[in-house]
Amino acid sequence: MTSAITPTPGTVYLVGAGPGAPDLLTVRAVRVLAAADVVFHDALVHPDTLALATRARLVPVGKRCGRHSTAQRFINKRLVDAARDGRIVVRLKGGDPMLFGRAQEEIAALADAGVPCAVVPGITAALAAAATLRTSLTERGRVRSVVLATARAGDGESGAGSGVAALAAADAGALYMGAGQAAAIAAALVAAGKPGAWPVAIVESASLPGETISYTTLGEMAQSPPTARDGPVILLAGPQFTRAARCDPDVGDPEADDARRAVDGPRRAVAR
Ligand code: SAH
Repeated sequence: MTSAITPTPGTVYLVGAGPGAPDLLTVRAVRVLAAADVVFHDALVHPDTLALATRARLVPVGKRCGRHSTAQRFINKRLVDAARDGRIVVRLKGGDPMLFGRAQEEIAALADAGVPCAVVPGITAALAAAATLRTSLTERGRVRSVVLATARAGDGESGAGSGVAALAAADAGALYMGAGQAAAIAAALVAAGKPGAWPVAIVESASLPGETISYTTLGEMAQSPPTARDGPVILLAGPQFTRAARCDPDVGDPEADDARRAVDGPRRAVAR
């Protein structure tokens, strides 16, 4: 494999841990983890994923909203120090490191310090949720754009408006870190011109054993937002995110069942 990367001492690897299930890691991520001397990891990384870093010291540096977090500047410094000590350093982030993960701040800090760095992509939550829903993010002729947005304002940003505006302008979208503000987001999207009947799928803990799916609409969500959950939640909004689209024999949706029987034959139990 000539294109494979060789983990090198003194380098920091920003590695995507994927949405949770350890078998959704990339082969490259597994190789880099196996070679790592030290792994600075997010809070939600699966223990079986961490277990792949057999040689490494594991250092949790996760940020979860409302809970204790390690200041970003301190994380940057620890990455630089570990690399300067000649370690193979992994910064393991949920999903893909380049989405809503402050990767750019770490890359800039490493560049400032003259520390080489490489990025190993991962499966982001929106893609895992689409897989869970068995519903395509795009659809020929109907959904030609899909935005990945967050309603959460970052440090120094004035508000959540821009993520919602981006979603309002697209055919469909995935909203990260939006569950806590679901009612306000739904109302803002309707105010921006999206129909109240616009479907929304709410996926919690995509790819993990505690995975749950629920379906609603913007209008309903503005009135009764999802209750607080333990796991991470992503909202997918767009005309395709209906229960029927999932074609799920377990859900027992008559429309879906009819569609499935037409191509699949009689009902079968599905182990999940
Ligand atoms: N870099 C990550 C996103 C970090 S922001 C990625 O690419 O996926 C954290 C948000 O991601 C959560 O608030 C939630 O909206 C979403 N998320 C992460 N993992 C998830 C999962 N397994 N199921 C549902 N949403 C998830």
